[in-house]
Order: sequence, then structure tokens, then C-alpha cells
Amino acid sequence: MAEISTPQTEKSSQEKETFFITTAIHYVSDIPHIGHAYEMIAADILARYWRRRGRDTFYLAGTDEHGQKIIQAAEKRGMKPKEFVDEVSLHYKAAWAALEIRYDNFIRTTDPAHEKYVQDFVQKLCDLDEIYKDRYEGLYCVGCEEYKTKNELGPNNVCLIHKKKCEGVFENIYFFKLSKYQNQLIDVIEKNKIEIEPIERRNEILSFLKREPLRDLAISRSKVSWGISVPWDKTQTIYVWVDALLNYITGARGHWPPSLQLIGKDIFRFHCIIWPAMLMAAGLELPRKIFIHGFLTVDGEKISKSRGNIIDPLQISRIYGVDALRYFLFREMPFGQDGDFTIDRFEKRYCSDLANDLGNLVQRVITMANRYKVPWRYKTITKSYFQIDRAIENLEFHKALDLIWDIVVEANKKIDTEKPWELFEKDPQKLEKVISQLLEAISQIAFQIDPFLPETSWLIIDQLKSMKPDHLFPRHK
Ligand SMILES: [Zn+2]
Repeated sequence: MAEISTPQTEKSSQEKETFFITTAIHYVSDIPHIGHAYEMIAADILARYWRRRGRDTFYLAGTDEHGQKIIQAAEKRGMKPKEFVDEVSLHYKAAWAALEIRYDNFIRTTDPAHEKYVQDFVQKLCDLDEIYKDRYEGLYCVGCEEYKTKNELGPNNVCLIHKKKCEGVFENIYFFKLSKYQNQLIDVIEKNKIEIEPIERRNEILSFLKREPLRDLAISRSKVSWGISVPWDKTQTIYVWVDALLNYITGARGHWPPSLQLIGKDIFRFHCIIWPAMLMAAGLELPRKIFIHGFLTVDGEKISKSRGNIIDPLQISRIYGVDALRYFLFREMPFGQDGDFTIDRFEKRYCSDLANDLGNLVQRVITMANRYKVPWRYKTITKSYFQIDRAIENLEFHKALDLIWDIVVEANKKIDTEKPWELFEKDPQKLEKVISQLLEAISQIAFQIDPFLPETSWLIIDQLKSMKPDHLFPRHK
């Protein structure tokens, strides 16, 4: 196992800077599902980790609330768009609170301050001659809120994602001169002025930029009424993606630039091409790092309403506890890759890793300490394992949990080999030593799991203080 590092007294230059992390803001045409929770929990793990290390931390989350799909979703419910987004954004906030996600700011793209900033930003680009008006004719998918080229579509111009025929649309709209940033984008990515991880994604973006000439970006719409109007032309609204991306600035509360932006693999071109180009055009600093995570599937299938495989993270956490869900999602699959959720595998992990390995360990050791009257006082842990810290900082959460569970497994092994119940007769001094070492190992475990399983960490520490053992992970039918 990793060496134990001494507590850091001097902060590194990295730790002097605020750890500003963002997640993608969620589109409120839908309710929160396990795929949304996945990214939110990942950001929460990192924010908790850095907060515990004493680094100033700022975690930004939010909801994306404009666009044609919102009007349609609101109409279905017989509501006005604003009423509808007010309600759905509350669902998101409630879900994140229930999953122990502690963000520092929650931005909504219908916040008046955000809307004002988006207009100012677009006005600035216009003043800098980065925007021009032109006629646009194209195929538009309402589901994607995106113009499509023929080669992005299936036969009969059917959107491959929405399985619906795209409409032919003609309008005079505004364009951002994205194409002129092609070489600059290659340059900033190659020089790691903006780090893109994992490496395969970085390579994918670079080879795309070197191969495909960028087209200028249509940044306004004349046909979408639920949006922020173009400041100099009220007949048009600003493209939802431009509106949404700017949340990272309007929600930043002065912390710009972000240390890390977490996004899913479906939207990484928006974040690795359009987004940095917009920032360069406005003369703003680039985010330090963008990390692209994989997708969760459920029973091997993409999560979607039509497949009926939407897993409600709240339902799982009501039955098994929040921490069981947080544990499974980050133990089972590497964060940068796709992973599959099956209730079977979830239950296996719950029983073996949580109820058996961890839950029984804590209960057995505290019970033995009481039975054999081992003197003990809980001391707060301040030392950390270098390898675990490094794994968390590199977003290798599965590896960090693996290393923590090594400590759990070692402690269980120690009980089996030392057999305290035999030492009680043979060697009371050794018994005291063994039980104290086990209690210390449990203290260490409670400290290490805190970013991942905050509630369990707290419960273990509570039991170590009171010496009253209790079930951490009750059995379920
Ligand atoms: Zn589509």
C-alpha cells in the first residue's frame, strides 16, 4: 500500500488557487436521471476532496432553460415556459440535495443577470467585428436544436439521435466567425493552454481540427421564441448553446477561469471548439482543463425515456442509502470510459463491499473493543495516502476506492489471522495492541472515504467516538 505522506504545511502553487469546478448545466425538458447524477457526484467528490485539504473551492452547477424543446415540454403540461422551468429546476435542486451534492452556486439561464451578460457578450463580439449577418438554409433538428449537414443524418434526412426527419429551414441570421479560430484552437490544445483529458479525446479533437475546415457558427435564431433576444435585433434570439456555455462565466462569481470543467462525451465538441473560440474572441482566459467522461448505460442500453430504462437515483438512494449509489458509480467503472449500471451488480457490490467488508468490520471491531475493554479515544486523522490523493486528483476514482478498500480488506484479514478472541486468554497485551490498530485503521478508512461516502464517513466517526456499534448498511430483501 501507498506510503503515508506527512501532513502538508506549505501549500503548493496549485493549492493556492481556487479549485473552480463546473458541471454541464442540465436541460430542463426532462427530470434528473442517473446519468446526470453521475457527473454531479464526480464534481462533488473533487470539491469535497479539495475543501478537506483546505483549498478554496467553488463548485458551479445549474440548469439550461431556453430553447424550442422547453416550449414544447411546457405546452404538454399546459404551462407557460417560465412556470415550467421554475418547477423543473426545483426538481434538479432537490435531487442534488438528496444525493449530498454540495455545490456553491446554482445558475439558471433564465436568471436576469445571466440574460443580461449573454446579451453584453454577444454585443461585444459584434463590436469586435466577430459577427456578421447572412442567409442560412439548412436542415434543422428541433430535438437537437441544431442545424445538421447531410452527412450527419440518416436516409430521408432523419436525425440519428431523434429518429425524426429534419425540417428544411430558411432564415437570415447572425454568424460568429468560428472558422478563423481553427489554427489558434489547434495551438492552444497542442500547447496545453487548455488541457483536454482523457488523451484519446484530446487526440480526437486535434485530428478533427486538422482535418475538417470549421464552418462559421450560426449564433441566432429567428424561429425560437423562448430565448434571449439579440440586443440589436429583437426579431432573433441567441442560439441556446451560446447562451448555455456562458453560464460558466455568469455563475463564476469572480473565480474565472475554471480549474476543471466536467462534461459528457456527447457535448465535447461544443466545449472544446466553440467554447474556447468564443472566449478567445472576447479576450477571456481559457479554462485550465476539460475532462470528458463516459456515458452510463443501463443494462447495456443507452438511458432514454423511450426505452423505459430511466433509473431514478433518488429511488435507489431511498432504498440503499445515498452512499451506496455514490460508491457503486465510482468503484465499478473508470470515469473517462463508458460504464454500465445493472441492479444485479449494484446489489452485489452493496452486499460484498459495503455491508460485508466495511459494515461488518466496523461493527465487529467496536464490539470487540467493548467486550475486551480496550482503552481507546478517537483522534482526528490528518495524514493522507499519497497514492489515494493522486488517484483522486487524476480523476481515477475507481483506483482511489480500490486503494481504500485494500485497507478495509487488510483490516478484515488482521482479525482472521490474529484471532482476538484467542488472544484474550493467551496474550491480553497483544490483544490491546491489535484492537487499537484495527480502530486506527477504521479511523483512517472513515477519513479516506469522506469525499466519496460522506454520510458513512460521518457515521463511522460517530461510532468511533461513542463506541456504540450500529449497522452501516442494513440488508435488503
Ligand atoms: Zn436530433
